[in-house]
Formats: sequence, structure tokens, C-alpha cells
Amino acid sequence: MKNTKSKSLFKKACQLMPGGVNSPVRAFKAVGGSPLFIKKAKGSKIYDVDDNAYIDYVLSWGPMILGHSHPAVVSALKNRIAEGTSYGAPTPLEIELAEMVMKAYPSIEKIRMVNSGTEATMSAIRVARGFTNRDKVVKFEGCYHGHADGLLVKAGSGATTFGVPDSPGVPKSYAKNTLTLPFNDTAAFKTLLAKEWKDIACVIVEPVVGNIGCVLPKPEFLEALRKETKKYGIILIFDEVMTGFRVAYGGAQAYYKIKPDMTCLGKVIGGGLPVGAYGGKKEIMGMVAPEGPVYQAGTLSGNPIAMTAGIETLKILSKQGIYEKLENTMQQLEAGLKRAADKAGIKTKFYRAGTMFCTYFTDSDVVDYKTAKTSNTELFGKFFTAMLESGVNLAPSQFEAGFISLAHSQQDIDRTVKAAYKSLTNIK
Ligand SMILES: *Cc1c(COP(=O)(O)O)cnc(C)c1O
Repeated sequence: MKNTKSKSLFKKACQLMPGGVNSPVRAFKAVGGSPLFIKKAKGSKIYDVDDNAYIDYVLSWGPMILGHSHPAVVSALKNRIAEGTSYGAPTPLEIELAEMVMKAYPSIEKIRMVNSGTEATMSAIRVARGFTNRDKVVKFEGCYHGHADGLLVKAGSGATTFGVPDSPGVPKSYAKNTLTLPFNDTAAFKTLLAKEWKDIACVIVEPVVGNIGCVLPKPEFLEALRKETKKYGIILIFDEVMTGFRVAYGGAQAYYKIKPDMTCLGKVIGGGLPVGAYGGKKEIMGMVAPEGPVYQAGTLSGNPIAMTAGIETLKILSKQGIYEKLENTMQQLEAGLKRAADKAGIKTKFYRAGTMFCTYFTDSDVVDYKTAKTSNTELFGKFFTAMLESGVNLAPSQFEAGFISLAHSQQDIDRTVKAAYKSLTNIK
């Protein structure tokens, strides 16, 4: 494949932006090579500036669950833009999206729209602290909750990819209020809470950890989080920015039947535009300004364009049979990728929750950050490059989840599985 235009654009971008990108993992540093510059995307495919086509499993890191430039979303956006793009005043669209989200997430009794997942988690934690009058936050190693200070402690995603799970620039005095534990370690969790509960405002968790690949919760783990936090008056926050409308329409909380006190959303609910949201119990959300004293605001929050993309996306997702279709496509891909690895004689572990998935190059079971790190990242890098050369776009890091969309066809899956077998055989 020819990449001359992408390469020369990257050179130029590196002089203008740190690492040539506006978000770290995009730079391909973890896998070698230089990133593709994208010209357009449609359905399951993205097209780069050198006119190569790729079957896309990144999907803008999760949001594009309908596939790229879905006609219903594009046409609704065109109509909406003609009416103005932001008013800084309430619109009926905010009510429409809020109702759709809350119907799917009964644990959310009141909601606030923001502009990113980072803002959602940062704000939810502020509210939890305001509500409980406590300062400490419990998080789990490898979970990524956006890049707010104090959450960049043992964080996943780019932070793990680049080996800086604890970022410079975060004052020690902030980090001190973040307590971290291994994911899935129920005993350690109980011990910590028994000792420190008086200072703990909230426990925040990715119910399925998508930011070190795809790590599934042990059934008793999420149950213990629910039971123990309730016991001590600690707020349980599910960060469903990735899992929301992804592992199921009702998110991980519907899938695992656990009701958190607060939920953070993003990605899918913005249908490809910048959106986040947080919400939860009425009495907790009553703390948020202007109803209560905890301040949180946004010039573009709830803006009509983002709301429109979200509404159109959820309208389609809420139709009968959509998640069955996604599940069916996912099963084909899962079976195919496992078969390809077996046939090529490479030891891998495949995990998924709904349509988020990860193949790890390891033979240990992956249950937390430590076991995720047993994956052979060098081998992953080679696999990534070979797949890209065969026209398949995977996330450029072992520690990111893959996604499929409604637009992925049987033909896409067949081509991907063939490419995987060829790539795995060649890199062995
Ligand atoms: C992506 C993500 C975030 C951050 O969202 P941004 O919109 O990138 O700020 C937070 N939490 C989880 C679980 C995520 O996957």
C-alpha cells in the first residue's frame, strides 16, 4: 500500500502539534510506522488521503456504532445545522435525548450533558464529593476515566500504552486522594473500604475495562462493589462512557444487572460528535448548579448538533433486532479470529462484552491490569501492521478495545478473518 501523502502530512503535523496529533494513541508510537491521514469514511470503511480503503474496527474509538456517516444521522445534521449550531439556551432536543437515555438507564433519574467523557467523570466525582463531604476516590488499575487530574493515576488507554499511567503535572496532593486497587480483587476492595470508608466519597469503575483491551468483571466483583459502597454510604459511579449503548442498549448495568448511584456516558450517545453526560439519583444530582451548590457549566453543553447526532443514533439503536444483528456479526468475527489464531498456531486470548473486544497475545487469562500486561506487545505491533497492510484498521495499541458497527457485513468479517490468518502466519 502506498502511504506517501500520509507520511508527508505527518511530517508537517509533527512540526505543528505535539507528536503530530491531537490525542496520543493516534500517533502509532506503540506499533511503529506513521499514522494514516483520513479523507472520508462510510459504513464499515475508512479511506486515507492516499486512497486506500480499510475495514474499520476503531470506529472513532467507539462512537460510530451505526457505521460511519449513516444516512439518517447525516441528513438530520444537515437539516439541523441550517437552523444554527449553538444558542447557549435550552432546546427541546436536550429533553429528547435526556428522555431517551434515561429510559434506557433507569438508574439515571436526572442527567447533565457535557462535551466529553473526561468532563463527565470529572464532574460526577465533584458532585460525589460535594454530596458526601468526603475527598477520596477509589479507582482500579488500568481503568481510564478521561484525563482529569487525579484520575490519571494508574490509568489505562494511552497512559498505559506509553508507560506513563501516572502523569507528570498532576500534583501529589491531588493524586493522594486517589486510591487504586487491582480490578476484580474483591478481597482487597473490602479491606480498603473497611479501613478508609470515612474518607471515601466514591468508587469509580469501568464495569468492563475497555482501556486495557477488554477485561471482563468477575460476577461477584461488581456485586461486591454495589453491596459494600451501599453499606458505607459511598457513591458507586459506573463509567459507561465506552460500555454505554455498546455492550447492550442499557449498558453494562443492564447486562450485569447492577444499579450504580451515578453513571457517566459519552462516545455512542454523541453519534460521532463531542458529547458526554453524567447522571444518577435525584438527590445526588440535586447537588448540581443551579439546583444545588456544586458548580459545573459548559458554553457548548447540550448543543443542538451534538444532541441531534445522539438522538438519531439512539433512535436506530432502539429498534427491534438491532443488538441481535450486532451480536450475530460479533459472533462471526469472534469465531473467525479464534480459528485464525489456532490455525496459525499462535497463542491468544480473546475477550468481548457485546461488541467491544480484544485479542491479547498471551496464554494467561486476562483479568486485570497485571495480566493484561503479559501480552506480547511486540507481536501485537507486527500483527497490527500486517492487518493494516491487508486493509484492516485495528486500534494502534494492544491496550485498546476493538468495536464493530451495524455496517459491518459478512463480507467484511470474511475478509478480516482471512487477513488475520495471513498476518498471524507471517508474523510467527
Ligand atoms: C473514552 C473514555 C473516557 C474519556 O472520554 P473522552 O470523550 O475521550 O474525554 C472516559 N472513560 C472511559 C471509560 C472511556 O472509554
